[in-house]
Amino acid sequence: MMNKLTPEILVLDDDPFTLKLLARILANLGYNSVTLCESGHAALKHIDNPADRPDMILLDLNMPKMDGIEFVYQLAERHYTGSIILFSGEDEHLLQATEKLILMHGIKIPGSLRKPVSPEKLGALLDKWLALPQAGTQQTVKLHGADELRAAINNGELLNYYQPKVEPASGRVMGVETLVRWNHPRDGMVLPSEFIGLAETHGLIDELTRVVLTGALAQAKAWQEAGLVLQLAVNVSIDNLASPDFADFIAGLAAKAGVAPRDIVLEVSESHIPMNDMSAPLETLTRLRLKRFRLSIDEFGTGHSSLVQLRGIPFDELKIDQSFVHGAWSNKTVQAKYDASMAIAKQLDMEVVAVGVEDKNDWNNLRRTGCNFAQGYFIAKPMPAADLPGWIKTWHERMKE
Ligand code: C2E
Ligand code: MG
Repeated sequence: MMNKLTPEILVLDDDPFTLKLLARILANLGYNSVTLCESGHAALKHIDNPADRPDMILLDLNMPKMDGIEFVYQLAERHYTGSIILFSGEDEHLLQATEKLILMHGIKIPGSLRKPVSPEKLGALLDKWLALPQAGTQQTVKLHGADELRAAINNGELLNYYQPKVEPASGRVMGVETLVRWNHPRDGMVLPSEFIGLAETHGLIDELTRVVLTGALAQAKAWQEAGLVLQLAVNVSIDNLASPDFADFIAGLAAKAGVAPRDIVLEVSESHIPMNDMSAPLETLTRLRLKRFRLSIDEFGTGHSSLVQLRGIPFDELKIDQSFVHGAWSNKTVQAKYDASMAIAKQLDMEVVAVGVEDKNDWNNLRRTGCNFAQGYFIAKPMPAADLPGWIKTWHERMKE
């Protein structure tokens, strides 16, 4: 956590000359805690160290490898709650669109600058920023390190919760989604948003997925034997899909557990689907599909995949992100995004799951629009496996009313 008078500033630009220039301007303005990065990857590596999280990022929009927009997505993934000032040679329109995107991710942005950056304008923007409440501090959540996570995975501290998916038309419980938690000995139940990114950036995600999937498959088998017919969904990371043997690995685990691939859904978040090189994940997805696993595109609407790109990937299911579900009935813009997602799913012949059904109005909206499946707090919060049979009983009673 930074003192307001000495904010940590990170400058990201692919051009070394601009970096040097900005460093000098910042030094003249009295900012001494400055880190310079020439690529998005270098910047993310720095940011992934909890102690080094900057309070302000000066971000160039146009960079060859990871551009500014993708970098913002990566920041959002990491729940960056600091601020950004954009600078770019691009036109005003593009800057404004990017500013909106940044705001949508809950990142503060006091303004943007055109290149070449003027010292006066940058100074004025930083002054404006420092005057904002809480500008120089990050409201960081408890942060954990990679070594701690690695030990937790090995020590069995990860625990699967399960959230039911139901059919609004009939009330039938069709399956569950596996949602991992970290049962931390000191901090209690830690949510995945706080450690999945960490696992991905520190090469721990394959091991994490293996542990989650193994537990979930054993659970699904136990439910099956108890006469509960449930489809099992598990989230996989795009990094998992990049490993060439991932399809065989999953198939092996499923076979060993005695659960048929057609009863297993693998969910991949849309926001992680790369805009350019999709070849390695695509190969794995196609092989998984050949093995009869069901594939789902998750958090749909938060990414930037195009229809053309989606057509090329054999997804069976589309999950509409909760931000386009809860409250859609009372907000035209949200409803429009929900409707558009429904239309895309229909056009691509995918089943639709709406996530974030929080109340009766949301539920009725799904019924009215013919959404196939629903998931959300109105139905049930994620729960330990042992609570599921009891929940199913009360759910059936609720449905009778
Ligand atoms: P997701 O796959 O989109 O999962 C849905 C998230 O929305 C879950 O958060 C769930 O608890 C939450 N949710 C469900 N219904 C509602 C609702 O009505 N209102 C609100 N406000 N939230 C609702 P959770 O469990 O914190 O998981 C967050 C994300 O972490 C997941 O998003 C998924 O992307 C990721 N994740 C979870 N488990 C794993 C895992 O085993 N592997 C990987 N790679 N990612 C995982
Ligand atoms: Mg999911």
